Parts: sequence; structure tokens; C-alpha cells
Amino acid sequence: MSDYKHILLAVDFSKQGDAVAEKAKALATTFQAKLSIVHVLDNIPMPDAYYGTLISLTENSGDPLLEAEKAKLMVIGDQFNVEISNQWLLWGIPKQEIINVAEQQQVDLIVVGSHGRHGLALLLGSTANSILHTAKCDVLAVRLKEGNF
Ligand code: AMP
Repeated sequence: MSDYKHILLAVDFSKQGDAVAEKAKALATTFQAKLSIVHVLDNIPMPDAYYGTLISLTENSGDPLLEAEKAKLMVIGDQFNVEISNQWLLWGIPKQEIINVAEQQQVDLIVVGSHGRHGLALLLGSTANSILHTAKCDVLAVRLKEGNF
């Protein structure tokens, strides 16, 4: 097995996300790898002040919805000892932005949760499924047990 140097955890703020985060953290510890986290906003409007997809975690936007999302990401960052410079908050389509960050930051393993979708749901394409098919690096889809969601 290759030695991972930079692991990217994709967090969707769902209840079952902790199990995925624990796995990513354990792998980062095992491989002494850098751990980064990413969350992509696809369900709140972008304030006028923002034109790009990358959101600053250190500047206050004045937008309560956006600040709440930042706070959620930073709580996870604190919980798993991820430096603020390795926390990514973006606007856009999750499957695309996660891949973009992974490529830009030279990530060698992306860790996502799988909701255990089968058959047609997979063909229709979930975030996890799309990342599995398009990432240039390894992808770990952490199977979430029934009852976790
Ligand atoms: P899905 O394929 O949409 O059921 O989501 C499976 C996994 O994709 C989640 O457990 C996360 O790891 C990741 N994911 C989904 N949506 C997002 C998002 N908006 N931002 C970051 N990661 C996400």
C-alpha cells in the first residue's frame, strides 16, 4: 500500500459524517499525512461580496448563514486538529469542487462517506460515486452502516 502524504476529508455536516472523519483522521495518523477538510456550499445563496468559489474563513462576511457554515467547518477542524489553512469552504457543485481542491492541493487520498446507494441511484450519480469515477488520486468511500442515517 502506498504511503499517503495528503488526505482530504469531504464533510457534508451530516450526522454520520463523524464516522467518516474518524476514519480519515486514523489514516492521517497512521501515514503521518497532512489532513485537510473541505465542505462545499450548494444550498445557500452567495452574498454579493463573493465572486469566486473560495470562501475566506478568516474574514467576516457579515452574512449570518455563511458565518454559520464557516463555524460548522471550523468546529470539525478543531475536533480533528486540522489547521485553518487546510480547511476549505467553497461554493459550487460538491463533486466538482472537491475534485478541484484535491488536484490543486496535491491530495493523494480523498475520503468520503457512502450512503450505501445501489443500482439506479448509483447510475444517477451521487457525490461519492462521481468522485470515485473522476478523481486522479485514490478515493476511500467509507461505508456507513444502516441506522447511521
Ligand atoms: P452523497 O454521495 O451525496 O450521498 O454523499 C456522500 C459523501 O460525499 C458524504 O459523506 C461526503 O463525504 C461527501 N459530500 C457530499 N456532499 C458534500 C458537500 N456539500 N461538501 C463536502 N462533501 C460532501
